[in-house]
Amino acid sequence: MDHLKVCEKILKSKKDTVCMLAPSFVADYEYPDLIYRLRALGFDKVVELTFGAKMTNLTYYAILKEDIDRTWIASPCPTLVNLVRNKYPHLIKNLMPAHSPMGCMSFVCQKVYPKHKQVFIGPCLTKKIEAQELGTIESALTYKELEQLFTKYKIPEKVTDRKYLKTFDKFYNDYTKIYPVSGGLSSTLHHNEILKKKDILVEEGLGNITKIFDDFKDGWYKKYKFLDLLTCDGGCLGGIGMAGHFPVSQRKKRIYKYRDYARRYEKDLGRAGKKMHVKGIDFTRDF
Ligand code: SF4
Repeated sequence: MDHLKVCEKILKSKKDTVCMLAPSFVADYEYPDLIYRLRALGFDKVVELTFGAKMTNLTYYAILKEDIDRTWIASPCPTLVNLVRNKYPHLIKNLMPAHSPMGCMSFVCQKVYPKHKQVFIGPCLTKKIEAQELGTIESALTYKELEQLFTKYKIPEKVTDRKYLKTFDKFYNDYTKIYPVSGGLSSTLHHNEILKKKDILVEEGLGNITKIFDDFKDGWYKKYKFLDLLTCDGGCLGGIGMAGHFPVSQRKKRIYKYRDYARRYEKDLGRAGKKMHVKGIDFTRDF
C-alpha cells in the first residue's frame, strides 16, 4: 500500500482528518510553524502523540506493578517487534503487551473524533506495518514524505493566513515529549516504586539489540527487569524517515528545549486528561 497516495487522496476528498504527530517533529521543524503548515495542507485536527505515550507508560506501569517474573522488553518500536517475531519467537512473551504511543493515540482519537480519518506522521518507516496491523490508521507517513507534500502543494515554511494559525488540538503531555530520545520511555515511566535504576537497561542500534536477545536465558537477560530498546542508532531521532540533516546530538538538544518550553508555557492536562479521554479504552495488546 502506498501510504503517501492514500494520504493525498484523503486530504483531496476534504474529509475531516486528524494528524497524529510524533514528538520527534521538533528535531527537524520549528514549533508552532509546522502545525500551521499541517493545517494549511488540509488537516482539520492536529494532535501530538505525547498523550498516547503517557497511556503507553501507564499501561506498562500497571503490568510491571503486577508481576516481574521475566525481563520485560519495551515494545513501541515495530522493527524490534518484527525482529522478535521473526528471529526470536521464544521472546514474544517478553514483549510488553501494550500498544505503542501511536496505537494508544489512535484509540483515543477514535473516541474523541469518531468520524475523522487518521494519519500518523513520524520518523519511522516500519510504523506503516504497525498502522496496517492496527487497522484504525489510514496512512502512516515519514517526515520525508511530508516534505514531498509540502513541496507539491506549495506550503510555505511560514504560513500567515490567520485561519491556520492554531497550535495543537489539546490533548498532549509535556514530560513524554522526550520519548523519541533513546531512554526516553524509561525516564518518563515514573518507576521508582517498582523498578530501581539497576533493573533497567537502555540500549539502541540493531547490532547491540541482537546481542542482547542472543544472550537471553530462561526468559531473563542477566538480572535486568526492563529493557528500554530502540533499533535505530540515536533512537527514533536517528529514524530513516527524519527530514533534516542535523546530527542526532543537535536533534536531542532541540527535543529537550521544546520539552522545557512546553513545561513553562503549555498546559498539561495531567490526570484530568486521562479521565476525560480514555475511560473504557483497553491499551493492552498481543503480539
Ligand atoms: S527506533 Fe527507529 S525503527 Fe524503532 S520506532 Fe524509532 S524510528 Fe522506528
